[in-house]
Amino acid sequence: MNTPLLEVRALHKHFAAGPAAWFQPQPVVRALDGVSLQLQRGEVLALVGESGCGKSTLALTITGLEAATHGTILFAGEEMQRSNKARLRALRRQMQMIFQDPYESLNPLMRVAEIVEEPLLVHSIEPAPAARRARVLRALEDAGLKPAQEFAARLPHELSGGQRQRVVIASALVLQPALLLADEPVSMLDVSIRAEILNLLAALRAQHSIAVLFSTHGLSSAAALADRVAVMYLGRIVELGPAAQVLHNPLHPYTRALQAAVPVANPRQRHRRVVLQGETPNPAQIPAGCRFHPRCPLAEAQCKANDPQLHTVAAGHSAACLLHEQK
Ligand code: SF4
Repeated sequence: MNTPLLEVRALHKHFAAGPAAWFQPQPVVRALDGVSLQLQRGEVLALVGESGCGKSTLALTITGLEAATHGTILFAGEEMQRSNKARLRALRRQMQMIFQDPYESLNPLMRVAEIVEEPLLVHSIEPAPAARRARVLRALEDAGLKPAQEFAARLPHELSGGQRQRVVIASALVLQPALLLADEPVSMLDVSIRAEILNLLAALRAQHSIAVLFSTHGLSSAAALADRVAVMYLGRIVELGPAAQVLHNPLHPYTRALQAAVPVANPRQRHRRVVLQGETPNPAQIPAGCRFHPRCPLAEAQCKANDPQLHTVAAGHSAACLLHEQK
């Protein structure tokens, strides 16, 4: 089997959630609580879940913008935590982040050409100005900003939301990465533009064989773009499998609730409603046993005592639910 482009093993990221005191232990938010996954070259994996489930923390920890509490991150077989500073910098150049908010990501005083050129200067790539300019224009074209020469001269306020997100994508592409980590890249955009950006990411994968780790709230947008889907809940992956199977045959009760919330175009077609009880628990006080049990419509007595782990139910399709462990 090929070495995965990215492999994450038992990754934990904990944050102190308040000051320590002699009369109580320091509260700790377990934003990532044992996440393991693999991503092959050119593969698209979607991370799906509610706000606060750990999707963004996972992307930030993989790129090194947050330090892991413990666990292992391997990029093309190389353990990132054991790499020296220079090697780490070279590895990180191959993984580029696309943030959620294109309005906050761009410096309003810099022209598009300068924004896209900046990563080349930071990483000392293409010292010859003519070659650097050609690379910037190619990245703008690859991101769908044509004619590139015209967009290069614009300031961010002269662009629409979708065009700004394309500039963010061009700044990532200019370094010719092997992996894009897209953190809810369409959630701040108008619905009409979302499909364009998702189509662009799909085209980039097809043309350049770039792997994409893509996080989203919506199961339907995940299934439209991804080869596989990982559903996250309170810092853990609770279901992982091929996109079509997770969408059409979800195994975990939480994924079934997400699926029931996907709107259907045909008004005659009825979904069985799945209503979850209560709110997402405080991540500083993760429930004992199955962390989903306070909201799960199928919870049994054993769910309060036993913490289910991801368990393979069908080829390539696994879920963390005690009901599936018993089958
Ligand atoms: Fe629900 Fe129990 Fe399965 Fe957890 S283990 S998802 S509480 S049925």
